[in-house]
Amino acid sequence: MFTIFLLIAAYIVYRAVRQILRVYECPSDEVLTAFWRGKLRPGSEPHRQLITHLGTCEKCQERLHLLRQGLPLEDHLIDKGQD
Ligand SMILES: [Zn+2]
Repeated sequence: MFTIFLLIAAYIVYRAVRQILRVYECPSDEVLTAFWRGKLRPGSEPHRQLITHLGTCEKCQERLHLLRQGLPLEDHLIDKGQD
């Protein structure tokens, strides 16, 4: 009985730690672009995590800054026009 309780407690702690660690992980370009385009629902888990991450990660602040200046992180955003 006590073992089961311990396992459940360990699982809850494991999940909490994983969530915290994910905040420190840099998001992919896709996530950052989705955020910039307003495609992440405010209040949703990915949105909250990204906001928290941006508050602590200068690298991603810089990436978002590049996005804001219109510099593409994705190749297909480059519109070279046609002849
Ligand atoms: Zn980052």
